[in-house]
Amino acid sequence: MRPSLLDPLFAPLSTVSGIGPRTFPLFSRLLSGPDTGPRLIDLLLHFPQGVIDRRLAPSLIEAPFDVPVSIKVTVATHRQPPAGRGRVPYRVLAEDDTGDVELVFFNPRPGQLQSMLPVGATRYLSGRLELFDGLRQMVHPERIMDERQFAEMPNFEPVYPQTEGLTTRMIAKVMQGALTKLPSLPEWQDSTLLQRKAWPSFNDAIQALHRPTSIAATTFDAPAKQRLAFDEMLASQLAIALVRSRMQRLPGRPTLGTGEKDAAIRAALSFRLTGAQERSLADIRKDMASDQRMVRLLQGDVGSGKTVVAALAMATAAEVGRQAALMAPTEILAQQHFASIEALCSKAGLKAALLTGRDRGAERRAKLAALAAGEINMLIGTHALFQEDVVFKDLSLVVVDEQHRFGVHQRLALSAKGEAVDLLVMTATPIPRTLVLTYFGDMEVSILDEKPPGRLPIDTRIVNLERLGDVISATGRAMEAGDQIYWVCPLVSESEQLDVAAAEDRFAELRSAFGDKVGLVHGQMPGADKDKVIADFAAGNLRLLVSTTVIEVGVDVPNASIMVIEHAERFGLSQLHQLRGRVGRGRKASRCILLYKAPLSESGQARLSIMRETEDGFRIAEEDLKLRGEGDVLGARQSGLPGFRIADPIAQADLMAEARDHARFVVNQDPELLGGQGRALRLLLYLFDRDTAVRTLRAG
Ligand code: ADP
Ligand code: MG
Repeated sequence: MRPSLLDPLFAPLSTVSGIGPRTFPLFSRLLSGPDTGPRLIDLLLHFPQGVIDRRLAPSLIEAPFDVPVSIKVTVATHRQPPAGRGRVPYRVLAEDDTGDVELVFFNPRPGQLQSMLPVGATRYLSGRLELFDGLRQMVHPERIMDERQFAEMPNFEPVYPQTEGLTTRMIAKVMQGALTKLPSLPEWQDSTLLQRKAWPSFNDAIQALHRPTSIAATTFDAPAKQRLAFDEMLASQLAIALVRSRMQRLPGRPTLGTGEKDAAIRAALSFRLTGAQERSLADIRKDMASDQRMVRLLQGDVGSGKTVVAALAMATAAEVGRQAALMAPTEILAQQHFASIEALCSKAGLKAALLTGRDRGAERRAKLAALAAGEINMLIGTHALFQEDVVFKDLSLVVVDEQHRFGVHQRLALSAKGEAVDLLVMTATPIPRTLVLTYFGDMEVSILDEKPPGRLPIDTRIVNLERLGDVISATGRAMEAGDQIYWVCPLVSESEQLDVAAAEDRFAELRSAFGDKVGLVHGQMPGADKDKVIADFAAGNLRLLVSTTVIEVGVDVPNASIMVIEHAERFGLSQLHQLRGRVGRGRKASRCILLYKAPLSESGQARLSIMRETEDGFRIAEEDLKLRGEGDVLGARQSGLPGFRIADPIAQADLMAEARDHARFVVNQDPELLGGQGRALRLLLYLFDRDTAVRTLRAG
C-alpha cells in the first residue's frame, strides 16, 4: 500500500486548479504517466528546458540586441499606418533618457495599442531588440506590462516543453499552484552524499527547477537536476537490487562438477578455448558451485563462441546427475544449438534432446518420458520448454539465449521447473556497459571480449543497387570458386512496398541464373522446410542462400564467406552487424556487400559508413545508440530512454554506477527497507513508479 503521505502527489491532475476539461487532454498529451492519466507528480516532474532572463536592462543604450530583454520606457507617439495599407505596420515610438525604440506591430486589433500603450505612460516591455536601418526596434513585444504587472513577473522565467494549445506560460501558471501541494517528505538520500555533492532536498530541488533564480538553474548539471536524476537512478537500481536480493535469498544448491565430462568434451574440440571463454566458464562454475543461485549474463559478440561455453556449463550439471535446459528464441536457433551441443556432448556420453512446438504425438511423449526419467541430460528448445507437461527429473541449470526477446517472467517460469535453478543468459547484442547496468543490473556479467584466433577481417563494401547486375555476376564467379553466399532481403514478399526487393523475386531471379544451387528460406515457411534448406546450405549442397532476416541470429555455417544485404539502408546498425557476423567464421577471407538504394538519407549514410569502418560490436552498439536511441538497441522500438524521464543513464554513467553501488549497499544493510532511511526509500520507489519492487517486501 502506498504511504498516505504521498496521496497528494498521486492525485489525478484533473484535481489541480487551473486544469479544466479543455486543458486536461492537453496536459495528458504533454505529460508521461500511467494509462489512467497523469498525476500531480507527473506535472511536477515536467521540468523547464531553459530559462529566460527577464531582469530589467539598466537603460536602452545598454540593452543588448537579439536576446530576450526587458526594458523600461515612456511611450512617446503612435504612428498608425495609412488606411487601406494593411501591410504597413503600426509603430509606436518609446524612449528613455538614453535613447529610443520603435515598437512594431502588424495588424493590431483596433484600439488595443492605444489602451495598452497610452502616450506618456511608463511601460515595461519584454522581447528582443533588433537594429534595423540604424533604428532600435522591438517587433511584437512578448509582454507589455505596467509597474504592478512587472513587479509580479519573475526575474527568471522557466520555459517548458510544450504541446500544441498549451503555452509555456499556461504550464508555468498551473505549476505554481501544483508546487503548493508538495508535501514535506523525509530525506531518503544519505546526508553525507548530499553534502559532498551540495545537492538540495527533493522538495527544494523541485522548487529550484520550477522557480529558477538564474539562467543556469535548470541545466543538466545544475545541482537540483543532478539530485533528481540521482533519485530516479537510485529508484531504478534499488528496484533491481531488491529483486536480485530476493533471488539470492531463495535457497540455492551447490553444483560442483567432477570435471569428467568437461575433459571429454574438450578432448573432442578441434580448438582450444580462448582466455575469455575460460574466464567466463570459471565465473559460471563458481556461481554454480556456490549455495546461492546464479543469475549471470554472458555477453559476447557474434562469433565469440558462446555456445561451447554453454555446453560446458551444461556438462557440469550433468556430471552430478542434474539436468540443464537451453532456450532459444527461434526454431532455427534451437536446431542449431542442438546440433552443435549434441555433436560435442555425445562424445562425452551425454544425451541431448530437442523440443520445439513441432514435436507432437508419440515422439513428443517419448521425449517427455525420457526427460522425466532423467535419461536426457540437456534439453534444448524454444518456448515449448515452458509447457506445463514438460517435467524434468532434476533441472538445475537454465540457459536462455538472446533474453531480451523473452520477458523476465518467462525466464522465471522456466526457472520454476527446477529446484533452486541457476540461470545463465546469453546475448550477442553488444549492450554498452551503461545499459547493462540499466537493464541487467540484477545480473553478474561475463564478457567474451576476445574472438577465437585466426579470424580474418571482413571486407565490407557499400554498393549502389543500380550495380545489382555486376554483383550478381561476381556472385556467380565466387560460387564457381567454391564460396558460399548469404543473400539477405528485407521483406518476405512484395505487396507492401513496391520498391522492396522481395526475397521470393530475388530467389526466382538468382535461381534462373545459377540453377538449383540456390535456396530460399524465410520466416513464413513451414518449420521442417526451413530446417531442410538450412541443413542443405550447411552441408554445402546449396551454395547461395536467399533469406529474410531469419538468419540474423545464430546460424553458423563457417564455410560461408560472402554476405550480400539488399536495401542495407533499411536495417539498423545492430541488425547489420548481426547479419555480417554470419560470415568471417572460417579460414577464408570474407566479404560483405551492402547494397543500398540511392539517395541515402544522412543517417543511412552514417550507418553504412560505420559498418565499413569497424567490426567492433561495442563500438557499433554505441553508434547505434547515438543514432537511434536506447529502445531500439534492445529491440523495443521506443524513442528516448524508456523508464527514465530525468536521468540520462548514458551521459551520466558515473552517477548511474554510484546509484547501483548505493542501492546494493542499502539492500545489504536493510533488505526489507524497514529502517528509517529504508522507509523513506520506499517513498522514492513510489515516486518514480518502481513500486512493483516494494511488493517483494514484507508489509511494514
Ligand atoms: P556465438 O557466440 O555467435 O554463438 P558460436 O558459439 O556460434 O558463436 O561460435 C562461432 C564459431 O566459432 C563456431 O563455429 C565455433 O565452433 C567456433 N569457436 C568457438 N570457440 C572457438 C575457439 N576457442 N577457437 C576456435 N573456434 C571457436
Ligand atoms: Mg550462438
